[in-house]
Amino acid sequence: MQISTHVHALRLPFTIPVAPGIAIDRFVYAFLICGKTITLIDTGVAGCENTIFEYIASTGRTSSEISLIVQTHAHPDHIGATRAIQKATGCKVAIHAKEKLWIENVALQDRERPVPGFFTQVGNPVNVDRVLQDGEVLDLDGDHNLDLIVFHTPGHSPGSISLLLKSDGVLFSGDAIPVPGDLPVYDDVIASVRSIKRLDNIDGIRILLSSWDQPREGILVYQRMHEALVYLQHIHEAVIAAAGGTKSPDPMGLCRKVAAVLGLPPQAATPLLARTFLANLRFRDRKNLLLE
Ligand SMILES: [Zn+2]
Repeated sequence: MQISTHVHALRLPFTIPVAPGIAIDRFVYAFLICGKTITLIDTGVAGCENTIFEYIASTGRTSSEISLIVQTHAHPDHIGATRAIQKATGCKVAIHAKEKLWIENVALQDRERPVPGFFTQVGNPVNVDRVLQDGEVLDLDGDHNLDLIVFHTPGHSPGSISLLLKSDGVLFSGDAIPVPGDLPVYDDVIASVRSIKRLDNIDGIRILLSSWDQPREGILVYQRMHEALVYLQHIHEAVIAAAGGTKSPDPMGLCRKVAAVLGLPPQAATPLLARTFLANLRFRDRKNLLLE
């Protein structure tokens, strides 16, 4: 679906096998920036290269025009088709320095951050061509008409980035802004809060493109960020209440309790969600995250 002059959004459905016979339906977005060449923001899971190539063909262009993939971060549902696209088109791949190791060594990522169905989501490890830093500007067309500005927005993961396409007023936020009522995933809740506040301070965003949410336009852009901050505070209070006075509660027990309070389905209570709630518990002495 075309979003703005240069940007297209692709909603990519996939399933995560969480236990034998049980699968969760999910989706993730990948985005195209169509200028003189085509830049992809993330690539979905393994196999999504076909959907992406077919979509590009439907716009009258060809996949050989893909010159660059910019990764918002290295989690499996964002990098799954990257190697296949890199191989088919010879395009370059860019990612923040702190995510480089996990995209180049996916077996290591699986060991350090196991998620259900990891290897059904990730195709192959990826060779990184360009390492990104906060504040960098990617001049996509070579004439500064399509400048993509890099914002380091950690919290969800150490090297998560958001990207502002100035010409179109579009912000790609990856997984930096949690969706209220949906599965929260972060390593560092304080960093997440600060990252969302930083994005909230960018003036003139017309369209917000999150990986796990439908496109948001106009006043809904900043409203979404404010709702995310309130959601993080709600989770924080629920985790502290569920832990009670216990110093080191059983992670999965805590996870099930908090998931129920948040209204998440029981099958959402996985070690990944437990990891998120432990990220709140590390800051149990900081009662009000909104002050961070
Ligand atoms: Zn992620």
